[in-house]
Amino acid sequence: MRSKSFRTWLKYLQDTGKLAVIDKKVSLLYEVAAITKKLDGKKASYFTKVEDYEIPVVSGICSTREHFAEALETDPDKLIGKFQQASSAPAACRHVEQQEAPVKKHIILENIDLGSFPIPVHHEEDSGKYITAGLFIVRDPVTRKQNVSIHRLQISGKDKLGVLLLPRHTYHLYKQAEEEGRPLECAIVIGVDPATLLASQASTPFGIDELEIASALRGEPLEVVRCETVDIDVPAYAEIVLEGKILPHIRESEGPFGEFPKYYGPRSDKEVVQITAISHRSNPIFYTIVPAGYEHLLLGGIPREASLIQSIRQTVPSVQAVHMSPGGTCRYHAIVSIKKRNDGEAKNAIIAAFANSFDIKHVVVVDDEVDIFNMEEVEWAIATRFQAEKDLVTVHAAQGSKLDPSANNGVGSKMGFDCTVPLNSEPMRYKRIGIPGYHDMNVKQYINTESLGLKDEHLEKEWSKKVPASGFGG
Ligand code: MN
Repeated sequence: MRSKSFRTWLKYLQDTGKLAVIDKKVSLLYEVAAITKKLDGKKASYFTKVEDYEIPVVSGICSTREHFAEALETDPDKLIGKFQQASSAPAACRHVEQQEAPVKKHIILENIDLGSFPIPVHHEEDSGKYITAGLFIVRDPVTRKQNVSIHRLQISGKDKLGVLLLPRHTYHLYKQAEEEGRPLECAIVIGVDPATLLASQASTPFGIDELEIASALRGEPLEVVRCETVDIDVPAYAEIVLEGKILPHIRESEGPFGEFPKYYGPRSDKEVVQITAISHRSNPIFYTIVPAGYEHLLLGGIPREASLIQSIRQTVPSVQAVHMSPGGTCRYHAIVSIKKRNDGEAKNAIIAAFANSFDIKHVVVVDDEVDIFNMEEVEWAIATRFQAEKDLVTVHAAQGSKLDPSANNGVGSKMGFDCTVPLNSEPMRYKRIGIPGYHDMNVKQYINTESLGLKDEHLEKEWSKKVPASGFGG
């Protein structure tokens, strides 16, 4: 497969003209983030000369839906279906020995120094350097199932990280350990293939190993290798692995940090990871995700869409597609298309969407002939198929995202727009205007690219007088 590892994916990006190699010396302080953001949604950035470091930095390896679809070897419109299928049928990983695992080429057990890696500072008010693209792996000691997630990791010392654990699976396992007074072992994996990266963000019930979803998504078992100092299995072809443990009963200052909603998550006292070992490939590549960029948003959005469509389908079987739009941070806004067969179905779809995730704040439901990935089309549907008096659903004082600054510590209002056409409406009323022949029109064959037929000697003189030598716009 084309995305077996981080490196094979980079090679693919280069071969297909989607990798910008930046050979000029750049600073880790904002400059890497600024350049990556300029190329966001277009190309991946590969920084070969990062100030003070030999190790290159890569960012933006998948910043469009098309990139993710290519990595998963499918079409953009089949991406969600493929992800959902893998999520519902995880497959076992394959254990390999140390000598088969490139990430074991160099193993550091003493004098650990996170400062030896080129870790950027991304945003203006960030408290410092952050690892933003580390797959954080822990193991449930009872079931032995692993859990994978991504957490923001502040560099707090040579061998110490501050970590934000939201109340989900990792946090649950950590609290269990802490109550027993023991640390929770972890591994932080930097630089994996896009399928494994995306699988780490699956919205799954507790107890599902996201690496097994990666195996299903890849269509072949993910090769994993045992860590040196912790009882954790990590992808064998990763670039860098940090091993460590989240310490019990210790909290230290972490934040502020620029987050996905394009605001700062606040500083507070948070859990601390003690690093116990580092392993890496020869000539490792450091990978960073610029927060709130398309790569970050889509990594959250695509797995959420897979989960959302499944939730809505339970109530409204005719749901066609869902879109967590980037303008809505790929978390707060859901656009849903349905093939309405019964009046009221759009409202049920709105309620089902709210129930799927506390993050979902605004839901727009449209008929299936509206392109939900074209926000101009969605706005058109709101403009012409919605009347607040009868088509608006509101719920107040519900739990939402704590990172939404307009909510009261996460508690706020939800709103749904039913923009579907009433079933009994008179046929011409909502008939979209159309030009016969438009869709199959190949306009190029009608255009004369040779000449406008305006040329004569006078025109030549006018050109030479008025147009500067450098061309139009001078
Ligand atoms: Mn999980």
